Amino acid sequence: MNIIEAKNIVYEYPDGTEALKHIDFKVEKGDIVALLGPNGAGKSTLFLHFNGILEPASGEILIDNKRLKYDRKSLLKVRQKIGIVFQNPDDQLFAPTVEEDVAFGPLNIGLSQEEAKKRVEDSLKKVGMEGFEKKPPHHLSGGQKKRIAIAGILAMGPEVMILDEPTSGLDPKGASKILKLLYKLNDEGMTIIISTHDVDLVPIYAKKINVINKGKIIKEGTPHEVFDD
Ligand code: ADP
Ligand code: ADP
Repeated sequence: MNIIEAKNIVYEYPDGTEALKHIDFKVEKGDIVALLGPNGAGKSTLFLHFNGILEPASGEILIDNKRLKYDRKSLLKVRQKIGIVFQNPDDQLFAPTVEEDVAFGPLNIGLSQEEAKKRVEDSLKKVGMEGFEKKPPHHLSGGQKKRIAIAGILAMGPEVMILDEPTSGLDPKGASKILKLLYKLNDEGMTIIISTHDVDLVPIYAKKINVINKGKIIKEGTPHEVFDD
């Protein structure tokens, strides 16, 4: 079953930039999918459509085969189901300590302090950052910040995690830790969508690849289908 489907999406920024030109894209529940393309291809813009941060000029987004609506209640629901980890963790980490940062989402959706605390513990454990609760996020390394940003999304209990360039700016060891973590989450049932401009990385981790260029999907398939011609 498709958990996310984009049908014929067109999006233009207010300054007239045509970022997405009739995009079709689908993700099956439980998949690990890569969106591969150069900088400026439209990867972030497409991702921002998947949880309703952007609304297409035409076309539609289906979540669990139902058309996404843009009223407040529907948006709250879709943002819990589909979490986005932004490319730069500094765009995502605001709070004075790691635990407050990871607790922000759960508290924001109205969970109790007690439940939020439990979510924080569980998610920090999942990303291998237990023991960092009281640290200020800005004291952490790039890879650690990334893992805290992932923990913040995990704490919301999403079904899909979208990551914009999750390994960018990390050294090989940091990058490999993130990729291992994503595999593990996928093994546990999480649907994962990753964007990257790094051709070398994709075949290693994705089951399916969509190649995007200049706002259009130009290829899609398994790594084998996409790269062997
Ligand atoms: P990618 O994530 O693949 O690097 P983006 O989705 O960020 O690509 O950008 C797609 C296109 O939209 C690019 O031409 C980019 O310059 C443009 N763009 C991105 N954000 C904005 C914005 N806020 N206003 C105008 N144009 C934008
Ligand atoms: P608004 O749309 O009014 O900014 P938000 O709920 O998005 O409302 O954010 C409220 C405040 O919380 C803002 O000051 C914002 O900077 C901060 N904030 C947003 N996201 C996070 C986060 N993940 N962690 C900690 N603080 C955040």
